Formats: sequence, C-alpha cells, structure tokens
Amino acid sequence: MGSKFLEDVLATIKRGVELGGFPEELYKILSKPERILIVKIPVRMDDGRLEVFEGYRVQHNSALGPYKGGIRFHPQVTLEDDIALATLMTLKNSLAGIPYGGGKGAVRVDYKKLSRSELERLSRGYARAIAPLIGEEIDIPAPDVGTNPQVMAWMVDEYSKIAQRNVPGVFTAKPPVLWGNPVREYATGFGCAVMSREAAEKYLGGIEGKKVAIQGFGNTGRWHAYWVAKMGAKVVAISDTSGTVYDPEGIDVELAMKVKNETGKIINYPKGEKIPDPKAALYVDADILGPDAMEEQITLENVDKVKAKIIVEGANGPTTPEAEAKLYEKGAIVVPDFLANAGGVVMSYLEWVENLQWYIWDEEETRAKLEKIMKNNFLRVYEKFESMKAEKKGITMRDAALVLSLERVYQAMKYRGWL
Ligand code: NAP
Repeated sequence: MGSKFLEDVLATIKRGVELGGFPEELYKILSKPERILIVKIPVRMDDGRLEVFEGYRVQHNSALGPYKGGIRFHPQVTLEDDIALATLMTLKNSLAGIPYGGGKGAVRVDYKKLSRSELERLSRGYARAIAPLIGEEIDIPAPDVGTNPQVMAWMVDEYSKIAQRNVPGVFTAKPPVLWGNPVREYATGFGCAVMSREAAEKYLGGIEGKKVAIQGFGNTGRWHAYWVAKMGAKVVAISDTSGTVYDPEGIDVELAMKVKNETGKIINYPKGEKIPDPKAALYVDADILGPDAMEEQITLENVDKVKAKIIVEGANGPTTPEAEAKLYEKGAIVVPDFLANAGGVVMSYLEWVENLQWYIWDEEETRAKLEKIMKNNFLRVYEKFESMKAEKKGITMRDAALVLSLERVYQAMKYRGWL
C-alpha cells in the first residue's frame, strides 16, 4: 500500500476501536475495502489521438446500505488514496445517520487540460466502465474534486442508456432540472452554519451577534458565511487566495459574494481592512472560525495565533492533530470535519430519496429536512463528547464522533452476522 494518507486513516480507525472498546475484529474488517474495481477508459481526444485513462471505484463497506461517495478527477490520484477516501466515507455516512455504506471513485486525469467534449467522453466512458458494479440501490456516486453537476448529468444519461430506462437515483448532485435539488448548491456551507449555531448555543450562549471568521470563499466558505449571517452572527473576516478582508463592524456577505463572482477576488470588497495574507482570517478576533479552504491550515506553527473558541471544520483536515491538541489545551472546541461538512452527503441522501419516489420537495421543505438531520447529528456528538470527557482526560469532539460512527457500523455488521 505505502500511502501516508491511507496509513493515517487506518490509524484513526485503530484509535477509535480502542477508545470505544470495540473488538479488534472491527478494525480487521474495516481496514480493507469489500471490493475494488480498476478500469481503463479509452478517450478519443479532439486532435485525433487516443488517450487511455485509469480509474477506480472502491466499495469499502456496505453494512449500512448502498455504497456512497464522490468521484474525483485529479492528476495525482492513486488507488491507495481512493481506498482511504472510501474508508472515510464509511465513517462519515455512518456518523451522519444515513442509510449508506462508504465508497469513492477516481480517474487519474488533469481535467483542467480537457476540452468540454473530451470531459464529456471521459465522464461517459467512466460511467460505462463502472456501470456493472453501481446502481440506485447498490452504489450511488456523486461529485468530488474535479467533477460537478454537469459531469453527473452525463453519467446519469449514460447509465440510463445502458439500463434502457431513466435511472435518476444512481448519481446525486445533479442539476435541479435533471432530478437534482436547488439546496445542493449550498448544502455543505449551510450544514457548517447549523454546526456553528448549535455549537454557539452550547458553548457561547447563542449565535446572535457572535463574531465569525471564514477562511476560503468557495462553495463551502461562502455559504457558511451567508447562512451564519442569516442566523444572526456577525461575519468579521473572509479570505480567499487574494487575501483577507477584515471588518470588526461586520461584512455584508451578499455584497462580498457579488464582488467575488464579478471580480474573482475577495480583496476587491469595498470596505474593511485588506490583509494580503489569505491565512490572516484564521488569526482575527472571532468567536467562531470556519477553516473552509483546504487541508493543513492550522498547524503547530500558527495555532498560537488562533483566537476563536469554536472551530467548525468546513474543509477536510484543516487542523493537524498536534494543533488540535493545542486548541483543546487553550479551551477551544473543534467540530470535526466529518461531522461539520456532512451537509453535502446528507443532501445527496435527500435527493436520492426524492429520486426513488419520483417526488420533488420544494427548497424550503428540503432545507428544513437537512437542518433537522444536521442539528440532531451535532447534538448526538455533543452528548457523547460531554459524557466521554467526564470519564477520560484529553477527549476531543473528534474522538466522540469517531466512536459514534464506529458504533453504528459495528452494530449493523453484528446484526448481519459479519462479526
Ligand atoms: P472551492 O469551491 O474550490 O473553494 C476553495 C476556496 O478556498 C476558494 O475560495 C479558494 O480561493 C480558497 N483558498 C484556497 N487556498 C486558500 C488559502 N491558503 N487561504 C485562504 N483561502 C484559500 O472548494 P470547496 O468545494 O469549497 O471545498 C473547500 C474544502 O471543503 C475542501 O477541503 C473540501 O474537501 C471540503 N468539502 C467541500 C464540500 C462541498 O460540497 N463543496 C463537501 C465536503 C467537504 P480562490 O477562490 O481565490 O481560489
């Protein structure tokens, strides 16, 4: 295997198994995926050349239901990384309380170098290649890095041609007109905002007027900022790769979104202080921090500069384990990524339920369902965290989430007779 990422994921499971007092067999069964499909995808390029791309679909665990997880198009993707990502999906879906196991797909390709028609041929080719092993009640992929609703639309069309019928539920996060749901666009950031609100309720006496700083103004960060402002918080800092905008009086998030859409740079926001360092958002005076850009942003080098009391991890892996330990020493709480940013996959679940019934919920109804699930998930983890903390020193909210997630998948496998 030899992948550091995969080793880290397996070490996490091992720690969770020990922490939760589960039998060693749980680690044994979760340390290997149930099935791996390796595919070759020949694609005729626009200049007449034939390129053959390698792709994977890893089906990690199906105890809780059909495999579920995204498809990544990336030049550096490896099979080991795909296994690690599929394993994490088992944990995330289990924690989210949705009826899914974990899976993940990938194609090694620099998608930015493809024309639109090459991207379409690759997407259709990949869907054809994995078609024998997926299905609306078997394995339901979704977008990830390098793929989007258009790619899902091509894939669902290709799969439907093979099946000789419309099969909307086989991929999620489709365009709303093609059996998607408008809430999907902001589901992850909205889920982060619900986490911020619930954590503020428990640890800060409520969200109203609390200062929030957000690093990253992409899909996750902008909607986290937008919804937390709607919930009554004051967004005081926002950053993207162009730098950080800081305004202790509060940033107009809708105006910031308009500026970002029109100019591509948050630094063009007309008010507040402009700081060239994109990481400066992590250090401003704030009650709640959303590291919503990318992995490994809060490290041992800069953790002392973080002032927020609650860190809601919108990005995957933005806090290193060593930095997280320091944050807890300072009395801060980290709402872990696989709880905080699960809004996207929970919304995928809701879309799938709509698709299986050929029923369409309106936006408000869908958002209310998403909110309820995210809130309940926070409360379950919060209660577990508080009870584990009372019994053992050094417990983090991530530990509590890990144990709850392993508990659910363990119970499912036990009842099935796999363990
Ligand atoms: P995205 O749309 O590409 O946005 C990333 C944002 O981060 C961009 O605004 C980018 O700036 C900014 N950024 C990059 N490096 C930065 C830095 N060093 N400092 C400050 N800002 C920086 O990506 P996304 O979909 O929001 O994903 C962000 C994170 O959330 C990832 O870790 C992803 O795995 C996780 N996540 C996303 C979803 C989802 O549904 N989107 C679901 C679960 C988890 P520019 O705009 O200037 O490029």
